[in-house]
Amino acid sequence: MKEAGSKTAGDKPGSIEWDPWDPWHIRKETGQHQLTSVEFTVTQLCNLRCEHCAVGEMLVAEEGVSIPVERLIHRLDEVDTLQTLSITGGEPVLSPRVVKETIRPLLRYARSRGIRTQLNSNLTLPLSRYEGWVEDLDVLHISYNYRDAADFHRIAFEKYGRDVTPKAAEALFDRMLDNARALSSAGVFVSAETLLSPFTSPHIGQMHRDVAAMGCRRHEVHPLYPSDFAKGMNLVTLDTFREAILTLVEERDPSVWILFGTLPFYPCSDRIEDRELWLRLHQEENITVRQDPDGRNRLNVNVFNGDVIVTDFGDVPPLGNIETDSLPVIFDRWLGHPLAKKYHCFCPEARCTGPNILVADTYYSGWNFRERRAKIRL
Ligand code: SF4
Repeated sequence: MKEAGSKTAGDKPGSIEWDPWDPWHIRKETGQHQLTSVEFTVTQLCNLRCEHCAVGEMLVAEEGVSIPVERLIHRLDEVDTLQTLSITGGEPVLSPRVVKETIRPLLRYARSRGIRTQLNSNLTLPLSRYEGWVEDLDVLHISYNYRDAADFHRIAFEKYGRDVTPKAAEALFDRMLDNARALSSAGVFVSAETLLSPFTSPHIGQMHRDVAAMGCRRHEVHPLYPSDFAKGMNLVTLDTFREAILTLVEERDPSVWILFGTLPFYPCSDRIEDRELWLRLHQEENITVRQDPDGRNRLNVNVFNGDVIVTDFGDVPPLGNIETDSLPVIFDRWLGHPLAKKYHCFCPEARCTGPNILVADTYYSGWNFRERRAKIRL
């Protein structure tokens, strides 16, 4: 098994040996989940309306006023265990004001503390908009769920509310590809995420080759989450999901790191093919299985109202607010929440810290994970 030793955020950038967003390391080393990751939602503006968007219903046409970045940094100062910082939206790069007043100071602060950073962007803005701050970033995370410009037009604009011509969509799609190539060539770590859906799974081999051709260093593969905009979308069966993974593993470019996140297969699975898949993914070179940060080591902060949530679990009301509570206090509140207790199982012999709540609800609604145990050992 590929295993990393004890590392801290200052050791080196995230790598195949040590992925600082993975809650596994701290859980194993300290015996408990700790708040090592904070995500800021810095904007609710976006120039796209992708059908799979996890926050599509929250996007707005006009933005409110952000909490001053000094206040955000003060709350980060209180998190001794912090290792990673994520910046998301909306499209964080859309507003130059957000870049100047929030993103740049946060990235500089993180760098000064040796904290690893990720920013989620659709990469469709002019290349110049990424200059001047991207050198302070560790991971530029993009979404890649398209085969071509026609796919992009349908996926990004069907829910837009007004007509966007195929030509205009194609220009944005081409810019995304050009930007990914240019930034990758300049040394930026671009990580492209694909959600396995009935639409993408038959084409995962080709989509992976596209990601490699863009120069992306990592390809993240996740299930489609049935929340928000994506609530009505069809999901793949577990059999289709497994087949798509096996196809990807066979057809992959071995130089590109593949990261499987929120994988819907576990070491306690009843089916031998699922357990074998788990074993194989932990043995292949340049492939990792990331345990889910959401609900384990990460909180999300909305910089407009200060509310703190566990990302993706929209049905859970805010756990607190940074205007009144420190993040460690809010995190302790989450650890005591019945939902956290329900899914915080742990099987160290198989390197598993339990399922993503949305995935478990979707595919394993009858399972009591706290009463299960791994049937394999790595
Ligand atoms: S019981 Fe939980 S930690 Fe153990 S293998 Fe199953 S999902 Fe993973």
